[in-house]
Amino acid sequence: MATAKTARKKSPQRAPTRKAPARKQSAFDALIIGAGFSGLYQLYCLRDRLDLSALVLEAGDGVGGTWYWNRYPGARCDSESHSYCFTFDEKLYKEWQWSERYPGHAEVRRYLNHVADRFDLKRSIRFGTRVTAAHYDEAANRWQVTTEAGERLTAKFLITAVGCLSTANVPNIPGLDSFKGRWVHTGQWPHEGVDFTGKRVGLIGTGSTGIQATPVIAETAKHLTVFQRTPNYSVPARNVPLTAEFQRYVRENYPELARTMRRTPNGHAFVIEDRSVFDVTPEERQAIYEAAWEVGGLQFRAAFRDLLADKAANDTAADFIKSKIRQVVKDKATAEKLANIDHPYAAKRPPIDTDYFEAFNRDNVALVDVRADPIEAITATGIRTRSGTEYPLDIIVFATGFDAMTGPLLRMDIRGRDGLPLAEAWKAGPRNYLGLQVAGFPNLFTITGPGSPSVLCNMPVAIEQHVDWITGCIAHMRANRVERIEARPEAVERWVEQVNIAANATLLPQVPHSWYLGANIPGKPRVFMPYAGGMARFRAICDGVAARGYEGFALS
Ligand code: NAP
Repeated sequence: MATAKTARKKSPQRAPTRKAPARKQSAFDALIIGAGFSGLYQLYCLRDRLDLSALVLEAGDGVGGTWYWNRYPGARCDSESHSYCFTFDEKLYKEWQWSERYPGHAEVRRYLNHVADRFDLKRSIRFGTRVTAAHYDEAANRWQVTTEAGERLTAKFLITAVGCLSTANVPNIPGLDSFKGRWVHTGQWPHEGVDFTGKRVGLIGTGSTGIQATPVIAETAKHLTVFQRTPNYSVPARNVPLTAEFQRYVRENYPELARTMRRTPNGHAFVIEDRSVFDVTPEERQAIYEAAWEVGGLQFRAAFRDLLADKAANDTAADFIKSKIRQVVKDKATAEKLANIDHPYAAKRPPIDTDYFEAFNRDNVALVDVRADPIEAITATGIRTRSGTEYPLDIIVFATGFDAMTGPLLRMDIRGRDGLPLAEAWKAGPRNYLGLQVAGFPNLFTITGPGSPSVLCNMPVAIEQHVDWITGCIAHMRANRVERIEARPEAVERWVEQVNIAANATLLPQVPHSWYLGANIPGKPRVFMPYAGGMARFRAICDGVAARGYEGFALS
């Protein structure tokens, strides 16, 4: 028989304070949209720490958010596993053992399911429930939320935890409907997988996703044609199984690792070297890059402090990676197409890979430069380019990215005070305060919204910071009997300016075809969306705002 002690050990860490919401319950203190990293942690904070009635509405049938949908071949996180996880609970951090340096998509889902089960979160999540609209009712000071199935729910607080990269972008290429083969977008990958055996596959897109998928698809496809518009840098990930020794190191160094992640600009568990590219001789620099190339991963960016601030400094890294591409890829013409990169290294989100460039040495892989010869149409049997060349295909894989950051918010009909649509408030680009709140939309919080570090940071770190801030804010409101919080328009103006200043201090806004600017979506305003001033600085700004009585917000 289980003793009280063992029974306690097996149950979730904190005893549940509220029963599962009844299926028909429709009024809550807080509604949270999305059950990925952000939604899970926000639910835990509001339900179990603040004892609010809270419900998560999730379109998928399971937890995971981005990782619920992105199951394409090779899908793996680019952050190292010991940093791609929650740090809010030391026991949770120490009890979960990652198996590889970078977690694969299935392992991230296993982790998030573990978190959800450990804290008994699933009873407060409605799966298979897509939110279509959320309207603020000023008289009641409540959000009226509608789901695709026509359910209506209300809450005082509405918190979006919809992720930054969750609205798939399938480009509008003429003829897609006529294609007799199969097509899939990497961000909506079928759960049963796609069998490429014996198939002629076309893959469009060479961002982080296409670069991960290419070598894996090439292993089973009869033939793979990669359609490349913008050549891209990539650094070897050097993924490996984690040794017991490293796993022990992670467990034993939790406080130090968590501290590093909170203090570094990108939220990773490594420190950016405090040296300029020009502090060292060309020979020393070459040796530093070689060593960083061997270590692999996003850490390559941390070899020098000025890679993203100074074009001349960046050129040295760019030239180094281009030389590696030329060394790896045997066919000279293909190597040139791959190395003909027109933007500074890491000014677009830098991919890391496992045998991406090597894949082009296979007999069954070909590269098509669609900047030189653009895709003109999809036909019944494949892809045709402007020159009239036909590429016969059985399967087309769209690794064409997302309507990033604003897309997941704007695809819902969100309306604030006086029925103002969010799409109208943001018609010239996203405008908010600290990435958290939009003027005219009281009690609406957007976790890792545009204007916050989000995608420029290791996501779980950015998420924990925003969720902690929102939780502290709601606790403050309750303690002070405040019913409504709303960003002041003048604070929004100032913050938008800060976001622009931070971006312009880097090379990031100089890339015309970057999704950071919305440039991948026709008609989307060209506005640099994430806050580029670094996570540590952002955290200090947010903490200061709270300490000064929520400066810049109207509380009533
Ligand atoms: P992406 O970076 O936006 O790349 C999309 C690719 O598709 C680009 O090469 C783009 O070319 C191309 N493309 C789009 N429309 C096209 C068209 N009509 N014709 C030809 N090419 C077209 O998308 P992603 O690779 O899915 O990555 C998005 C982000 O998700 C990443 O930057 C990263 O933040 C995240 N991500 C993370 C991981 C990870 O951690 N492991 C993995 C995958 C993705 P242009 O560049 O010319 O527009």
